[in-house]
Amino acid sequence: TVGVITLDTYGKMCAGTSTSGLFMKRKGRVGDSPLCGGGFYVDSEVGGAAATGVGEDIMKGCLSYEVVRLMSEGLNPQEAAERAVAEFSEKLKRKANLSRDISVVCMNNKGEWGIGTNIDEFSFVVAKEDMKPVIFLTKKID
Ligand code: ASP
Repeated sequence: TVGVITLDTYGKMCAGTSTSGLFMKRKGRVGDSPLCGGGFYVDSEVGGAAATGVGEDIMKGCLSYEVVRLMSEGLNPQEAAERAVAEFSEKLKRKANLSRDISVVCMNNKGEWGIGTNIDEFSFVVAKEDMKPVIFLTKKID
């Protein structure tokens, strides 16, 4: 999945997702990516988020909404993304013995961004009008 959060010069925000879904998915499967709240969520008064990973997990937690909700409570984007992914991953493990890939990207309406992931390596891009796009790769250090 590719997820995008944007902020324009008028302060309007948008979120977009594009996905091929999961490998060997069942015919008719929808997944989380087109679902507002699960695969993406945006509120120009707060910020936006987009998720990638196993859609059946992500949609159960309304994960993108949860990240924006945490930002609305005052967490910065990095704290919100990390907390949402960590708490939801822990809950999936505890309740359903599931430990599958989940990642989110997010940005608030000031242009501050964050990512949360439970995988070892996750890459994303940050682009602003006054700079060239920067590609980041997170690496888990044990
Ligand atoms: N979230 C997507 C889905 O479940 C898959 C992905 O992120 O790669 O359809």
